[in-house]
Amino acid sequence: MNKIEHIGIAVKNLKDSNELFFKLFGEPHYKTEEVKSEGVNTSFFKVGDNKIELLEATKENSPINKFIEKKGEGIHHIAFDVDDIVGEIKRLKKEGFKVLNETPKKGADNKLVAFLHPKSSNGVLIELCQDIKG
Ligand code: ZN
Repeated sequence: MNKIEHIGIAVKNLKDSNELFFKLFGEPHYKTEEVKSEGVNTSFFKVGDNKIELLEATKENSPINKFIEKKGEGIHHIAFDVDDIVGEIKRLKKEGFKVLNETPKKGADNKLVAFLHPKSSNGVLIELCQDIKG
């Protein structure tokens, strides 16, 4: 794994949170993107070299809704940049991690992504992401 790619934060209302995090960082978000397959709207902020992703549910059964119902708003996942997501999935399965996406799928921000179940990683939802080239 190369570095933390971004930190994902679950929010109830993306518009309100975009304003809140604008105040916090002093810079507005630089993009928003809907990921239909996940039932989420996302927005991204740059903080120096780091990225923060805000996630809002777009449908009742969105994983973000379920998360907020259980735990409230807050840090939802940590994403790590990898060069070879398929290789990493294989490696981590062998190490005993529960991989939620055996086949990586298209996520926000032109990435291939796969998640590890928080139960196998001390309660932290881990996202692997690899840039889609070309
Ligand atoms: Zn993410």
